[in-house]
Amino acid sequence: MEKLEVEKHAQYILSVEKRKDDFESVVMEHLRMNGAYWGLTTLDLLGKLEIVDKDEVVSWVMSCQHESGGFGGNVGHDPHILYTLSAVQVLALFDKLDVLDIDKLSNYIASLQNEDGSFSGDMWGEVDTRFSYIAICCLSLLHRLDKINVEKAVNYVVSCKNLDGGFGSIPGGESHAGQIFCCVGALAITGSLHHVDKDLLGWWLCERQVKSGGLNGRPEKLPDVCYSWWVLSSLIMIDRVHWIDKEKLARFILDCQDKENGGISDRPDDAVDVFHTYFGVAGLSLLEYPGLKAIDPAYALPVHVVNRIFFGQMKTCPTQQSSPRLQH
Ligand SMILES: [Zn+2]
Repeated sequence: MEKLEVEKHAQYILSVEKRKDDFESVVMEHLRMNGAYWGLTTLDLLGKLEIVDKDEVVSWVMSCQHESGGFGGNVGHDPHILYTLSAVQVLALFDKLDVLDIDKLSNYIASLQNEDGSFSGDMWGEVDTRFSYIAICCLSLLHRLDKINVEKAVNYVVSCKNLDGGFGSIPGGESHAGQIFCCVGALAITGSLHHVDKDLLGWWLCERQVKSGGLNGRPEKLPDVCYSWWVLSSLIMIDRVHWIDKEKLARFILDCQDKENGGISDRPDDAVDVFHTYFGVAGLSLLEYPGLKAIDPAYALPVHVVNRIFFGQMKTCPTQQSSPRLQH
């Protein structure tokens, strides 16, 4: 089997963070907060987080926060729940959650919950189960799940379950691996996994593995490294990960590396980007690839960070009972 090019991937991520004006960074401009989360989490999993300037990142993150409490994707961009979770995750990586006004931030997230329990992404009102996951994950990391109606939030996610065992973005929406991760993650964090038909969903998920060993997101689609994360994390949360061929999947991910300049692509020989580099390394972490730090399948943060939040300096919190780690 190929080996993971740890040094080269770390240098690749650092180089992307430093480039400000080439094509990829212009396209990524409004997604910079997500990019920071993907890149920095990858560095932490590789054991290389110390190569970035922590104070510089933290002050940039905080300069993206709005009066409402939400975060934009970059300085001067509108706030959205997507970037807000990334901001919280980045601060968590650096053990800097204490710089946040936690009540203000959690009130912003709570304000996005709708009457039926669903969540909007921002003031414009688009509803998606991705936003349910984000709200639940974020508030759990901040120990503020009590700010929302958890029961209604869970019921809404369950209402998006399909006959194939999967989940869609809204009730009746087609099952998709990314959406399944969000729904299963939301249910795991709130201690509600009993709503999942584990065998049925496990079967749908393990059918995503194709001949090359890679995973696709829906039937008849090409395999893509990013699904290593969505599918694997879901299989782990429902305890069915032994239903796929893990070694073949690890080989597929390793074959997607740029062995010269670092970075991981969606499929072998395609161009690399930070998004797929993160999902490739996170996928290998879930596969227990030697030398990588472990990642939590529900919170999408390194396990040591999640443990620090729930069992570290902070006092005991009500969410501990529903933390997925405690269910194992
Ligand atoms: Zn992809």
